[in-house]
Amino acid sequence: MTPLYEKNKLTVYNSLTGNKEEFVPINSPFVGMYVCGPTVYSDVHLGNCRTFISFDMMFRYLEHLGYNVRYVRNITDAGHLENDADEGEDKIAKKARIEQLEPMEIVQQYTVGFRKVMSLFNAHAPSIEPTATGHIIEQIEMVKDILEKGLAYEVNGSVYFDVEKYNKSAHYGILSGRNIEELISGTRELDGQSEKRSPLDFALWKKASPSHIMRWPSPWGVGFPGWHLECSVMSTKYLGEQFDIHGGGMDLKFPHHECEIAQNHATHGAHSVKYWLHGNMLTLNGKRMSKSTGNTILPEELFSGDNTILEKGFHPSVVRFFMMQAHYRSVLDFSNDALVAAEKGYIRLTEAMKKMQSLQVSKTTEGLDVASWVDTLYGVMNDDFNTPMAIAQMFEAAKFINGISDGKLKITASDLEILSSTMNAFFFDVLALQLPQEGNADKLDAAVQVLIDLRMGARADKNWALSDEIRDKLADGGIMLKDGKDGTTYSVE
Ligand SMILES: [Zn+2]
Repeated sequence: MTPLYEKNKLTVYNSLTGNKEEFVPINSPFVGMYVCGPTVYSDVHLGNCRTFISFDMMFRYLEHLGYNVRYVRNITDAGHLENDADEGEDKIAKKARIEQLEPMEIVQQYTVGFRKVMSLFNAHAPSIEPTATGHIIEQIEMVKDILEKGLAYEVNGSVYFDVEKYNKSAHYGILSGRNIEELISGTRELDGQSEKRSPLDFALWKKASPSHIMRWPSPWGVGFPGWHLECSVMSTKYLGEQFDIHGGGMDLKFPHHECEIAQNHATHGAHSVKYWLHGNMLTLNGKRMSKSTGNTILPEELFSGDNTILEKGFHPSVVRFFMMQAHYRSVLDFSNDALVAAEKGYIRLTEAMKKMQSLQVSKTTEGLDVASWVDTLYGVMNDDFNTPMAIAQMFEAAKFINGISDGKLKITASDLEILSSTMNAFFFDVLALQLPQEGNADKLDAAVQVLIDLRMGARADKNWALSDEIRDKLADGGIMLKDGKDGTTYSVE
């Protein structure tokens, strides 16, 4: 069977060129994809979740097309300083100091929490999830290499990347569309205290102050790697000097990704990444999310509804569906009303998915040209992963399914097979949605039946108070009992 990628010409928006380009892997059918992962010093930010869910969708779609994807997403567990700066406390060490824990206890706690949230969102684990602390030796090697190439300098136990020298033979700012003169005029002058030759230079290795507890020996003394270095090292180690996709949130474009490009270029003499993809940010009620203003929500609070911003909790699959209804390069605004609306749409779609399983087939198909619908669906997905348009196509199919179910439209057995395999592939595999009620419906049924039986017993004992209490408490929980001549039934509000 010819793989789907043969007839699906995927195009991706390459941040490096500012164009949509045909996606041609360096070594098809293999695809190498690197995405900057979280710094594990606090609960994962919902904005970061969106980025990782966007790349999970891409990972899944590439696999669906028949590519063999190696997806590397790192865990930053050292070297990321406060304010993303070259000076200051390590974010993880700071949290460890405040909570009186070992830095690695902080790392463990938030790595476990992060993975749990991602699995609730039904995101695949990456193929490799390397850590910065697991690659200190490789990072030291890359620093040595850049020093040997003359593009870095050592001062007092720290090593800095020489941006101006690098820029003589390459372009620093290539990704974010800036040039070095603009960048220099935008930074403040060195204050005389700094060891750097230029304010644009960034740390490859930092000398550890006596209070800096996350420290390792190196040829330049005891210290720790600069934040940007780990991604260059780990992407090269697991995907090679040249690889297909590098992703991350838009906020990482500058300086993080710009510095990665410079480090890789300095080491390998060429640009490493073929397609740079960036996900856009997420706002909450039209405003930037911020802990200090209280305009913030944790993923768990979204699921439980335990936040004043929400009227109720939402199933992770509803949240994922909501995210997929926006293009990954558009800003997405979270609000209670938007989630409620998404939930309605999601339920409509899931109901059609269920109906699809038991449709009557006919000798003809009337109401939808299934083959051209399939082409349209793939066509929009191939246009830079346009999930909102894909979902619109799935709603077209849902309307058609409802029409058949109502006896107004018709479908042949072979068209139904194509329709259902395509709907299933997009719903479950690519968008990675779930049918939430399925698994728990039986358990709920059993639990309510126990209460109905208890109430029957109470009534037989003429214990009206208990009988009413069971009925009223269930009603408070949205479960309405109805006494009929064939016994008691219930409905969920
Ligand atoms: Zn990175």
